[in-house]
Amino acid sequence: MEGIVVAVALAFVIAIVVYAPFNKRNQESIARPAKENEQLADLTARKNGILLAIKDLGFEFEQGKLSEKDYLELRDRYEQQAIALLKQIDDLKAELASKRSSSRKKSCPACGTPTREGQKFCVNCGAEQ
Ligand SMILES: [Zn+2]
Repeated sequence: MEGIVVAVALAFVIAIVVYAPFNKRNQESIARPAKENEQLADLTARKNGILLAIKDLGFEFEQGKLSEKDYLELRDRYEQQAIALLKQIDDLKAELASKRSSSRKKSCPACGTPTREGQKFCVNCGAEQ
């Protein structure tokens, strides 16, 4: 019995690993506006830069190149910037996600009532979809 559970779990993990790259590629190629994609990459790069700067700052402080007061001040400022960037990244991601889902929504060609994925007839006018 235990062997079966392990085998099923293993198959599941393999399926995720194999499927994930395709899934990611599909998501990225579907209607993600290039401009916002660039913006997201830019924000992420800036965030990474600040995180690196915080790390450097800690290193410099440890080496005695910075006073504790300067270190804490600078670190605080960097952290505020990182938090602001993270928020912008989250907002942008949410915006992209809502755009993706709204562009996927379909509606009845006859009356415009929103229809669900796989629905064959319109719930409002009965037209074939
Ligand atoms: Zn309809």
